[in-house]
Amino acid sequence: MSASKLILLAVTHEQLQRLFQSALGAVSYQVAIANERLTLERDLREAIPDLMIIAQHLHWISGFDVAQDLLERFPTLPIILFAEEETPSLLKRAIQIGISDYLSPPLRIETVMRSVEESLRRANRLGDWTRREVRRTTASLQKRVDELQKFYLILNAIEDGVLILDDHQRVLFANAAARRMFGIWQEEAIAGKPVSEAISNVDLMALLSTDLHNVLPHNEIAFDDGRVLSAQLVAIPKVGTAITFQDISYWKQIDRLKSEFIHAVSHDLRSPLTAILGYIDLVERVGPLTEQQREFILRVQQNVQGITLLLNELLELGRIEAGLDTQKELVCFEEIVRQAYESLEVQARMRSQRITLSLPDQPSTLRGNPIRLRQMLDNLIGNAIKYTPEGGEISVQLEVQNNQLILRVRDTGPGIPPADQPHIFNKFYRASNVPRGVGGTGLGLAIVKSIVDNHGGRIWVDSVLGKGSTFTVVLPYEKKE
Ligand code: ADP
Repeated sequence: MSASKLILLAVTHEQLQRLFQSALGAVSYQVAIANERLTLERDLREAIPDLMIIAQHLHWISGFDVAQDLLERFPTLPIILFAEEETPSLLKRAIQIGISDYLSPPLRIETVMRSVEESLRRANRLGDWTRREVRRTTASLQKRVDELQKFYLILNAIEDGVLILDDHQRVLFANAAARRMFGIWQEEAIAGKPVSEAISNVDLMALLSTDLHNVLPHNEIAFDDGRVLSAQLVAIPKVGTAITFQDISYWKQIDRLKSEFIHAVSHDLRSPLTAILGYIDLVERVGPLTEQQREFILRVQQNVQGITLLLNELLELGRIEAGLDTQKELVCFEEIVRQAYESLEVQARMRSQRITLSLPDQPSTLRGNPIRLRQMLDNLIGNAIKYTPEGGEISVQLEVQNNQLILRVRDTGPGIPPADQPHIFNKFYRASNVPRGVGGTGLGLAIVKSIVDNHGGRIWVDSVLGKGSTFTVVLPYEKKE
C-alpha cells in the first residue's frame, strides 16, 4: 500500500492522538489531526484525505454525526470509527451509515494497521470501479453527443426548412434553411424566443393559430418579395410542434404560366365555338333536315355546349386565381346562403331529396365578393344534389363561432374515397367513384377553393365512403360598424 497517503484523524483524546500518530507515522502515512470542527472543515477544503479515523465521542459533536455527514458529501471516503465500547446497536448504526471499519480498545498497533490497510484497499477497488464506470458512461455520453451532432449537421444541411417549437410556441430549433427562408442570420437570435417575436410573417402566424385537428396537409406561406413556401405542421407529443417548409416559388411560377396559357387558349377557342353554334342554328333554317340529320346536329350542339361550359369555367377560374376580384364589400353571408339554397331547392325536390337549411340567429357579415360567394355556394350545394342519389338527404348549415363563419354542406351521397380526398380541389380532378352518368368538368371545387382562398378562409371535406360527405368552409367574420 502506498505510504504517502493522507490520513485525517478526528480524535480529541490526546493519548489516542499520539498512539495513532506514532503507529501510522512509522509506516510514513501523512497524518493530520482535526480536533475542532473548524480545523476539520479547513483540512477537508485543502485536501480530501485518503482515509479518516473518527472517534465516537468528539468534544464538539458525536463522531457518528460527523461520519454520516462526511459520507453524504464524500461517499467513497473510507472512515474508521473508534468506539469506546462495542455494542450491537453501535455496530448496526456503523453499518447503516457506511463506515469501513471500527476499532475499539484495547488498541493494538497491528489491529490499527490491518484496519487502515484493508479499508484503503477496499476504497482503492471502489475507486477503480468508479473510474471505470465513469469512463464507460462518459464514452456512451460522448457517443450520444456525436450522434446528436450528426443529426444537427444533417438538419442544417437539408434544403427544407425545419422549425421546432415547444408547447408554448417558443423556438426550440430552426435549421439553417428555415433561418434563411425567414431572413434570420443568427441561430442565437431566435432560440428560446416566442415564435411571434422571432419571426414576423402573417401566414405563419395564422397557420400556428389553427386548431391542429383542422390543419390542412399543405399550407402556403407568402412573402412580400413574391416567394411562396409550402408548410406542413405536425404535433410532436412531449415536444411541441414541428413545421417543415419547402420553397415552391418556382412551381408557383410555372403554375402561373400554365394558367395564363390555359386562359389564353380558352379565350381563343370560345369565339370559333360560338360561331359553330351559330351556324348549327342556321342549318335548319336553310332547308329541311332528315330525322337522322336533326339528331346528329343535336349531338354536335350538346358537345359544343359541353366544351363551351368547360371553357367558361376555365376562364372563370383564371380570373379568380389571377386575383381580379379584389373588390370586396361588407355582405350579409346568411342572405347569400339563403338565396343559393332557395334557387337550388327545386332541383333537390325534383330528385326527391330532403333538403334543409339552418341559419344562425346572430348576423353573419363578412367582407367579400357576393357574386363569387354565391358561385361557391352554388357549386357546393349543386354537387351535393348532383352526387346524392334520389331520396337522399342534404343539409346546409351556417354558424357563427369565435369570429368565424362556419358553413357545412352535408349529404348522404356516395362519399369520396380517402385516396381521392386530398386531390378533389385540384383542377380537372374527379374521384374514382363518380357515379355513372353524372357529368362534370372537375373544375367546380377548384373554383370553390380559389374563392375561399381569396376570402382568407379554409375549406376541407370529411367523407365516409358509402355514407356521405360534409364540406366545411370557414370564413372570417367581420363585424358590421
Ligand atoms: P365535377 O365537375 O366533377 O363535379 P368538382 O370539382 O365539383 O367537379 O368535384 C370534384 C370531384 O369531387 C367530383 O368529380 C366528385 O368525384 C367529387 N365530389 C365533389 N362533391 C362531391 C359530393 N358532394 N359527394 C361525392 N363526391 C363529390
